[in-house]
Amino acid sequence: MKTTFRPRLLNGQTGDPALLLSMRWQGRSILIDLGRIDRTPAAVLLPIEAVFVSHAHMDHFMGFDQLLRLFLARDAVLRLYGPVGIADCVAGKLAGYTWNLTDTYQFAIEVTEIGERELLRWSFAAADRFTRRSTGSAPHDGTVFADRVFTVEAAPLDHKIVSMAYAVTERTHLNVRAGALEALGARPGPWLNALKSAIRAGAAAETPIEIAPGDRRTLAELREALLIETAGQKVAYVVDTLFSPANAARIVRLARGADLFYCESPFLDEDIDQATRRYHLTARQAGALARAAGVQRLAVFHFSPRYEGRYADLAAEAQEEFTGHRMRYGELDERSPQLS
Ligand SMILES: [Zn+2]
Ligand SMILES: [Zn+2]
Repeated sequence: MKTTFRPRLLNGQTGDPALLLSMRWQGRSILIDLGRIDRTPAAVLLPIEAVFVSHAHMDHFMGFDQLLRLFLARDAVLRLYGPVGIADCVAGKLAGYTWNLTDTYQFAIEVTEIGERELLRWSFAAADRFTRRSTGSAPHDGTVFADRVFTVEAAPLDHKIVSMAYAVTERTHLNVRAGALEALGARPGPWLNALKSAIRAGAAAETPIEIAPGDRRTLAELREALLIETAGQKVAYVVDTLFSPANAARIVRLARGADLFYCESPFLDEDIDQATRRYHLTARQAGALARAAGVQRLAVFHFSPRYEGRYADLAAEAQEEFTGHRMRYGELDERSPQLS
């Protein structure tokens, strides 16, 4: 079973952060961070249904206008997540334009501010001239989004302001083994989805599932007889953060066991003082975090332009710390890592 996720840094390792996660077979995408996206074709951006913003420094948020322009006339809702204060930033962006002719538009932005213990929700509807409306709050336990395909967790990091890190995890694939239904004497039907939902919800082994009128089997029996279970893939994303014990602990917890870890790597370790002053990581620190979190692959990005002509050194330093051995140049192209 191949993974659903297809991740791509829209501006490569050196441009503004914007990680597009497309979901194969689903026609859906999410975007993590919203740096400039004006060179990305509209067809690539239109499937985006949610944007997860780390923080509102300009290189992470200036793509907002572009996305707004593209989505404005659509009958769609764009969900936007970010640290507390992101609703003010959205309101500020929207206040910069005149909205007297959008009364009949269906488009709305639903903003979720991720607090330490609470998710605060706001709505901005085009038909309402993008007036900010509170739509309530919910307790926050680390997971900020969940549906039947994937979940998104968030962890606040210290960048002198909050910079939110994210981990996107695909749910376990549950596939029916070829020939297993026939062997059980069962016919496919809605009960198969009921079985999968019960398993995903962590229902008890003895939970009865009716596979035909009057024919009840236990969840455990059906699970054993019918299903192949494949763990989903996990992609973690960390940008703009100080290398402190508290941040490192949060990053390692969030990224633990990720198949692919996108981590900022703006500075070489020789410039560690500069990195620390600016609340950023060095490439070596990115490698150390990846190793501590036990990730499968590390993809570094958000390189400082000061290293133009030496970008390969940033990737090499990170990979060397991560893997413990010096990489050859040809091994370093992490621009579009593919999950398989
Ligand atoms: Zn920043
Ligand atoms: Zn940045």
